[in-house]
Amino acid sequence: MSAKGDMFYAWTAVPDIKGECGGAVTSILKYLLDSKIVDGVLTVQKGLDVFDAEPVVITDSADLAKTAGSLHCGTLLLPKLIKKYLNGAKDMKLAVTCKGCDAKAMYELAKRNQINLDNIVMVGLNCGGSVSPVVARNMISSQYGINPNDVVKEEIDKGQFIVMTKDGQHKGISIDELEEQGLGRRTNCQRCETKIPRQCDIVCGNWGVIGDKAGKATFVEICSDKGAMVFDGAVKAGVLETSAPNPKGLEIRGKIENVMIKMGKKNQEKQFAAIGEGTGGRLTYIMAETSRCIKCYGCIESCPICYCVECSTKKNHLVPSGRLPPDFMFQLIRFAHIADSCVNCGQCTDVCPMNIPNSLFMHAQQVELQKMFGHKPGMDMELPVLAFAEEADERARLNATGSDMIYENVFKE
Ligand code: FAD
Ligand code: SF4
Ligand code: SF4
Ligand code: SF4
Ligand code: SF4
Repeated sequence: MSAKGDMFYAWTAVPDIKGECGGAVTSILKYLLDSKIVDGVLTVQKGLDVFDAEPVVITDSADLAKTAGSLHCGTLLLPKLIKKYLNGAKDMKLAVTCKGCDAKAMYELAKRNQINLDNIVMVGLNCGGSVSPVVARNMISSQYGINPNDVVKEEIDKGQFIVMTKDGQHKGISIDELEEQGLGRRTNCQRCETKIPRQCDIVCGNWGVIGDKAGKATFVEICSDKGAMVFDGAVKAGVLETSAPNPKGLEIRGKIENVMIKMGKKNQEKQFAAIGEGTGGRLTYIMAETSRCIKCYGCIESCPICYCVECSTKKNHLVPSGRLPPDFMFQLIRFAHIADSCVNCGQCTDVCPMNIPNSLFMHAQQVELQKMFGHKPGMDMELPVLAFAEEADERARLNATGSDMIYENVFKE
């Protein structure tokens, strides 16, 4: 019997499953479907090519084998799809594969009652980062000298982004080198500190799998009682084999996680410094960049924190219609409503047709708010900072003091 905190090497006992490493994730998903613990699996599969990751709901476990493997250009975020298209998992049970940003978005949506976590099994994936499909195609062409249409497989290994072509070419370039040239992982991934998403029920990766199991087993950490039940069930059902992790591997995994978190923090400092400070620096920069906005609402549609039926940015008295760019109030509304809860998923940057680095601006504010209030979004079910602001009290204070500085009381304490 396993328990929260236990760790294993695990690999599939199902011949058809060819996983990214041990195939443990696909085997666990198969067990969940076959045993009817879940009605469906929401995961990601290859579409037209390796750059085209598409979300898919699988209800027949025979279809799972084709979803196995990791798509590093799969930048999509699954929780908002559950809210939008699957009624927030309120009337069905789902298993979902979650990178760190998926896991954090899941918690933020759950605490807003937009999805029902009781009906969801979160199968976590360690995540070193993902690459925008557009950037990937461009860099494969310009840096690798390879036609991206010829690429049949990609992987990230030992700090390199590696591609393989249909005629057997195999080329890797160091991610650090690519990122120095403004390529490589998405900028939000470079800033990310959630490498092993322990908010999930179970979390799987390849870090720490060494020795004869290297490349053949998945490193599994059990993160909840639900995760333990699922893992034990999969082993008992005969779809999963396990062994104790190599102690040296355990140590390596811990070291890699720490290094990656430090790198994330360092990249935050670097990227936040580049947008300046204060009213004359950062605010002016943000106003200039967002003046390209064409009010397509893409950032709002894709953001897991934005779920309101009546969005304030669509109210004429707040953001007058018929003006492009929209008044800066459009951006201010988003900043005010979301900054305390931004999970740095990068969706609002990915979808912006005007290349506005929206997630950089929001994440920079989130980090400042975290310093003030200690609230870290997406880590647990703690309510967002704004949930504690009483509108009536705030209006009374505004009337009495004339100040619209909502956080003033906190600064005085
Ligand atoms: P499989 O049985 O092959 O199953 C993998 C599952 O992941 C499938 O269900 C598939 O649909 C799903 N999936 C594939 N791509 C995505 C995606 N983009 N978003 C959501 N779900 C997806 N592990 C590490 O230890 N270190 C890392 O640095 C690391 N980086 C990763 C980066 C990305 C973008 C992804 C997707 C995964 C990363 N992983 C990393 C996890 C690792 O690649 C394997 O997914 C994990 O070890 C499980 O292996 P498996 O053989 O058990 O998975
Ligand atoms: Fe992975 Fe973090 Fe990027 Fe999400 S934001 S894809 S968890 S590195
Ligand atoms: Fe993700 Fe952007 Fe929303 Fe932050 S503001 S949670 S980065 S979509
Ligand atoms: Fe809701 Fe504000 Fe997002 Fe609009 S911008 S959907 S009002 S949180
Ligand atoms: Fe403006 Fe970009 Fe958001 Fe569209 S996605 S509304 S252009 S900031």
